Amino acid sequence: MLDSLYNKTVVCPVCQNKIEVTKVKSKDCVIASRDSDFCIYYENVNPLFYDVWVCEHCGYAAQQERFENISPIEAKIVKENISKYWKPRSFCGERDIEKAMEAFKLALYNLCKTSAKPIEFAKVCLRIAWLYRMKKDEREIEFLKYALRYYSETYESETFPVGKLDQYTCMYLIAELNRRVGKYDDAISWFNKVISSPEARANKTLMDNTREQYRLAKEAKEKG
Ligand SMILES: [Zn+2]
Repeated sequence: MLDSLYNKTVVCPVCQNKIEVTKVKSKDCVIASRDSDFCIYYENVNPLFYDVWVCEHCGYAAQQERFENISPIEAKIVKENISKYWKPRSFCGERDIEKAMEAFKLALYNLCKTSAKPIEFAKVCLRIAWLYRMKKDEREIEFLKYALRYYSETYESETFPVGKLDQYTCMYLIAELNRRVGKYDDAISWFNKVISSPEARANKTLMDNTREQYRLAKEAKEKG
């Protein structure tokens, strides 16, 4: 295994088995660059590849920050709908982009079965889109569209902040995802909402990004 990686033992909240999960040492997560929708590229190992933990015994999969937060009802649904059909296989150790994609698709499948909230779908779909972007695969757009739909539902239905996501960052993401899928009018209208929110001005980085991406959306619209 790479020096940057280490294993940790956790208890699966669905089947109660002890499992090993792989994490990246935080000192080895060196940021190389960022995209305007917060996709981060790293100098060496990419922690995104290890973000989804998968139980090799029962097929339960979730982003690490919510892996342990599963209700007894959801755990029962996973057992009945996923574990029954699961062929044991390990996701421990080094992951390439394909293995990372498989882990995220399993997390998405778990969300579908447990009727999770839109924000959980939004996060997973956006990350699947990023993995496709890194592979230069056009399915990126399909998953950006899913992410857009779920961030829009989150905006309509939730009280902010939703986890770590504040209202203005959510508005910015809706704008930027609209731009990336070619819906320039919607993008411009959402960027305008961010620019005209007095509260959003407290976040300088967000405002700078908004102005820059607004300009790109305008240019793209003029080019038709
Ligand atoms: Zn399990």
